Amino acid sequence: MELSHTHHVLLFPFPAKGHIKPFFSLAQLLCNAGLRVTFLNTDHHHRRIHDLNRLAAQLPTLHFDSVSDGLPPDEPRNVFDGKLYESIRQVTSSLFRELLVSYNNGTSSGRPPITCVITDVMFRFPIDIAEELGIPVFTFSTFSARFLFLIFWIPKLLEDGQLRYPEQELHGVPGAEGLIRWKDLPGFWSVEDVADWDPMNFVNQTLATSRSSGLILNTFDELEAPFLTSLSKIYKKIYSLGPINSLLKNFQSQPQYNLWKEDHSCMAWLDSQPRKSVVFVSFGSVVKLTSRQLMEFWNGLVNSGMPFLLVLRSDVIEAGEEVVREIMERKAEGRWVIVSWAPQEEVLAHDAVGGFLTHSGWNSTLESLAAGVPMISWPQIGDQTSNSTWISKVWRIGLQLEDGFDSSTIETMVRSIMDQTMEKTVAELAERAKNRASKNGTSYRNFQTLIQDITNIIETHI
Ligand code: UDP
Repeated sequence: MELSHTHHVLLFPFPAKGHIKPFFSLAQLLCNAGLRVTFLNTDHHHRRIHDLNRLAAQLPTLHFDSVSDGLPPDEPRNVFDGKLYESIRQVTSSLFRELLVSYNNGTSSGRPPITCVITDVMFRFPIDIAEELGIPVFTFSTFSARFLFLIFWIPKLLEDGQLRYPEQELHGVPGAEGLIRWKDLPGFWSVEDVADWDPMNFVNQTLATSRSSGLILNTFDELEAPFLTSLSKIYKKIYSLGPINSLLKNFQSQPQYNLWKEDHSCMAWLDSQPRKSVVFVSFGSVVKLTSRQLMEFWNGLVNSGMPFLLVLRSDVIEAGEEVVREIMERKAEGRWVIVSWAPQEEVLAHDAVGGFLTHSGWNSTLESLAAGVPMISWPQIGDQTSNSTWISKVWRIGLQLEDGFDSSTIETMVRSIMDQTMEKTVAELAERAKNRASKNGTSYRNFQTLIQDITNIIETHI
């Protein structure tokens, strides 16, 4: 498609890998559709992009830019302690405005003006600023439709006096009767160490995104039908494009580009393993383990007798490096492989992988679902707990591991997930995901509508 000079979309994800990755898939889809894209990260994440020059050469219509998150370089940037969130609202918001102004008055090193913004559902300030500057704005939620809808339902739950204790079952949430507890709500309800922290600040940020021209979601129609119906009454228009990575594969013939350095050495090892024999173990980009939890996982996996591929991020353990050292010393014992960051989608799509022990982040959930791999779900924070409920109780494509587990529970669960009893259900759901993202599937068509709508809205504004 011919590149339009006036259609220049700025994408601004929340600064966490689980948000940046699907935004990057969306960026590539937009470039493929002929739009010019600027991908705005915080400086912290911008510096962590692997081989930026190579990426920029591979994707000539995608430009990377960055802005400060307002925190000092040595700040740990724990996404759940509220500090990063507040700093972005207080510091980054004005920098974001300056940046848009500099693009649009031509002082940003010759880059064309921004004619559309796609922002994360976590913040309202990009919506306020884009509106003030007369730039159309859309919202992208990297959460499930269910979790986003839960945020919209919080005022009602408060009004009904339902939020009292973590295990409390919540009633009246459309599409989720008997399935949601207080502790399935966003983790910011438990944030306490930020002065004057009020969880409703967070809720109100997300509620304000309903003013945008439309909501983009990484999900597909029948996977989350009741929640999509509810959200379609809140937002002007919704576009479900999921699984977004499957959709991208249908538009882009070359392999997907990566933002972070991956260890591909595990792929050759997978090639040498029998079909559906390997357990893949990964806890995403932010979850941390205690050394005891890691040891229980390790012993359970070893005792299960199954080969496994374990991702151990350098920051995965809160304390107790000896445990990691002990495990790393056994790295080369043949029946397992350990890497610090895997090409996760490639791993899940590999024939040798038969099960996934996961923290159930939304991206990992969709990637596993699309690859037809059953899960053992060990949810910790945020949307992971309700993702896990849907994995085990609604879609029935996995088992849920409760906290306080020991190695023998892991051993039993690993054997049971690998015995292929879920194979039919998992394969059927994977097939539906594939259909949705393939030509003439709903996600494919929704994407075409999105491009048309972005184009029309830009043209009516210039
Ligand atoms: N991921 C990866 N390699 C790894 C671990 C994770 O590429 O070794 C990717 C994974 O494919 C997913 C993302 O990181 O797209 C993690 O997002 P998710 O929503 O599952 O969890 P979060 O990191 O937000 O907790």
